[in-house]
Amino acid sequence: MSTPGGDPRTPDAALRAAREADVTSIDVRIGVLALQGDVREHARALAAAGAEAVEVRRPEELDTLDGLVLPGGESTTIGRLLRIFGLLEPLRTAVGAGLPVYGSCAGMILLAQDVLDGRPDQPLVGGLDVVVRRNAFGRQVDSFEADLAVEGLTGPPLHAVFIRAPWVEKAGDAVMVLARVGEHPVAVRQGNLLATSFHPELTGDTRMHELFVTMVRQRGRA
Ligand code: GLN
Repeated sequence: MSTPGGDPRTPDAALRAAREADVTSIDVRIGVLALQGDVREHARALAAAGAEAVEVRRPEELDTLDGLVLPGGESTTIGRLLRIFGLLEPLRTAVGAGLPVYGSCAGMILLAQDVLDGRPDQPLVGGLDVVVRRNAFGRQVDSFEADLAVEGLTGPPLHAVFIRAPWVEKAGDAVMVLARVGEHPVAVRQGNLLATSFHPELTGDTRMHELFVTMVRQRGRA
């Protein structure tokens, strides 16, 4: 399989980023749930942020990970596939045990405790104390881009791509809001869980992935 950016698992980019982050080797292994969505783009961004990135499809693979990314796609489909692949319960257990997980777009929905405008019985992983509204920005603005000030990122505003994106409608006290569009939270963190309404894997700006890799490293050292 050859891709323009190279195989995400090729360690070159990860090694370079690891060196810049002042660690001598690739010290974290982060999975990308590979049932649907922008798997390769996330893997590439993780490698550029200094992690080893691996695709994950089986429950037993979860035990080998220091962190996991749930990519965008269709949360109803991904939820159903999680159940079919026997991953739903193991993932809930892993989140409960503190595995760092980053969900983007549909991934944010999957991490939410509850969803508005979802399908009835839509399976969620849960763990993040938020209620999200699915397809929240409505038909007129199915997709849009915005420059966001994101708490915890240094440098210029982050150019963010929203595609039929959710927003956070309600957040518990333990949830830190990292960015908003208007009054609506679109990037949040609670403990080892990180979620964004947007798709940072599509822009070539790896700062969100770097933030997640840092969270994973901090947990490893805690
Ligand atoms: N609208 C999708 C959902 O409800 C999410 C879209 C995305 O991940 N880009 O799952």
